[in-house]
Amino acid sequence: MRCRRCGEKAVLKMPRHNTAVCGNCLNDYVIEQVKRAVKDQKMFERGGRVLVAVSGGKDSLTLWDILMRLEYETAGLHIQQGIGDYSEQSYKKTVAFAESRGAELIVHSLREEEGAGVLELAKLTDRSPCSACGVMKRYNFNRIAHDRHFDVLATGHNLDDEASRLLGNILRWQEDYLAKQSPTLPATREKLVKKVKPLYRLAEREITAYAVVNKIDYVIEECPMSVGSKMLVNKEVLNRLEADAPGTKQAFYFGFLERQKGADLSHEDEKIQSCTRCGQPTTARVCAYCRILEKVKAAT
Ligand SMILES: [Zn+2]
Ligand SMILES: [Zn+2]
Repeated sequence: MRCRRCGEKAVLKMPRHNTAVCGNCLNDYVIEQVKRAVKDQKMFERGGRVLVAVSGGKDSLTLWDILMRLEYETAGLHIQQGIGDYSEQSYKKTVAFAESRGAELIVHSLREEEGAGVLELAKLTDRSPCSACGVMKRYNFNRIAHDRHFDVLATGHNLDDEASRLLGNILRWQEDYLAKQSPTLPATREKLVKKVKPLYRLAEREITAYAVVNKIDYVIEECPMSVGSKMLVNKEVLNRLEADAPGTKQAFYFGFLERQKGADLSHEDEKIQSCTRCGQPTTARVCAYCRILEKVKAAT
């Protein structure tokens, strides 16, 4: 198999683009897609400070790698969830990556800061681990980005993530969530930081290939808590559709974005208020984060 762009030995077949690429051309393609995402979705400008949420997996490390290559001013933010060996490995790989590039890394440990890891938090509050983890991540991503004066928070969500989330939201017609499925969420309120997903144009397998070609050492295993999740089932379903008709995921998600353009989402923000405990933006009187912490305090 030869690269359709330059004739070198190809490393990746890309059926959705009806092509195959070598390592160099894959890098060009991946970087081009990120540049286009940043520009098309008005994610950030030169001179802006970007906080990259890094889990230690292929997507977030690839995102950080590309933004550094493109010479954006970045720092990484890693949340230590305290889920045994998985979290330990994730932490180590993230630190090693940051050190190898001399990049600034902010580490936030749930055990140290909130007093309990994800599993304990879930137990104390009768939430699923993924729900407790989601609250902790969203809250700390936003608060740390805001307090440290970053202009934007970037996450490594890719096309597969966004397409499967969209499928899940449509299957249950969760219209509130649909409004939030844009690759750029502006900071509509005080203390709310803009969120962006610069990898939304790239398929998971393209990112994996990029990570391998560029020798990025990432945690291969998925979070042990995600086994059997709806998200993974939706991904499998979409993979079957994609195998049958390459380009399905892209058509599905990009088509949604096209239709969402110009939609009036301002009513979504009217529900947001300041948490009466911590002052962070929330849709409830007391935010989910503060409600979880209350239970941790009561238990200790
Ligand atoms: Zn090539
Ligand atoms: Zn709060």
